[in-house]
Amino acid sequence: MSSFSTPALVVRRADYSDYDRMVTLFSPEYGRIDAIARGCRRPKSPLLNAVEPFTSGEFQLYRNRERFTLEQCQISESYFDLRADYDRLLHGAYWLKLLDAVLLPDAPMPRLFLTTLRALAYLSYGELPPALVTMAFEMHLMAQNGMSPRMDACMLCGKPIDGDARFDAWRDGAVCLECRSPAPHISNGARRIIMKLPRTDFDKFTMVNDRPEWPEAARLFRGYINARLHMEKFAPPLFGEAEK
Ligand SMILES: [Zn+2]
Repeated sequence: MSSFSTPALVVRRADYSDYDRMVTLFSPEYGRIDAIARGCRRPKSPLLNAVEPFTSGEFQLYRNRERFTLEQCQISESYFDLRADYDRLLHGAYWLKLLDAVLLPDAPMPRLFLTTLRALAYLSYGELPPALVTMAFEMHLMAQNGMSPRMDACMLCGKPIDGDARFDAWRDGAVCLECRSPAPHISNGARRIIMKLPRTDFDKFTMVNDRPEWPEAARLFRGYINARLHMEKFAPPLFGEAEK
């Protein structure tokens, strides 16, 4: 039994009883923390704003074996701009679903935590298309969870690939044009974006905005995410796609 403090981002919240909520936190040091926030639904609770999705700050928690209780929070960022823009909010809400799908208790992910905060800043305050920021976030999230597709060799024959190919989401990578496959075609440019972007610093994704192949890479990578994590129903529109 002990109290401790950690930076964290609120990924999810659920009503628990009349005045309490369960919150899922993403902590760089502890990974996923599911905690109860007692009394946070009372109008004057100091925890009222601390349990909103996207809130980040320093959270003080109490641990009793596997049960966590949220005691206090010093909010550092609430991303109000994001909440006020429906299109951007759709993208951000999808990222929280992705995090909810991959985070595990006692599995520290300090790099993914920083990536998430950087990405949220771009989504909230930047001028780049939300679909581009989402693509970059998806690729880094998968790479940091050891789930990057293999793009430099054929998943069927093993031959190195250095040009156009096919992208087989179910085989976790590229397939050369000589092998028989029903998988969709991928241009060399889009293949290189999927291969290289998650190996660079997150901020480098801004340069991809000038590359005409990025919407193709985003579309094919979304298919890959859906094959691995089954996130179809949460996915935001792709670039140029009519809004739902
Ligand atoms: Zn092949």
